[in-house]
Amino acid sequence: MYTCKDAINLLLDFLDGEMTPEESQHLREHLSGCAPCVDFLRTYRATPGLCKRAMAQQMPKEVSTKLTEYLRARIKSAS
Ligand SMILES: [Zn+2]
Repeated sequence: MYTCKDAINLLLDFLDGEMTPEESQHLREHLSGCAPCVDFLRTYRATPGLCKRAMAQQMPKEVSTKLTEYLRARIKSAS
């Protein structure tokens, strides 16, 4: 079973368009038993403007840390 960190790493890869069917299956298995990650994904998809603070309040610390890193990299590459 994947940990939240594994799942979020996969999710972030997926958002960049990369996920094998095997990874997708592992991710689905994790999401089926992990409400915080489901919330993360739902919030992420539902928030075009990426309200980082709102999401962080609902995420496990390791998830929010990973997301913060991701957003930071995104912001840096976009500017
Ligand atoms: Zn999880």
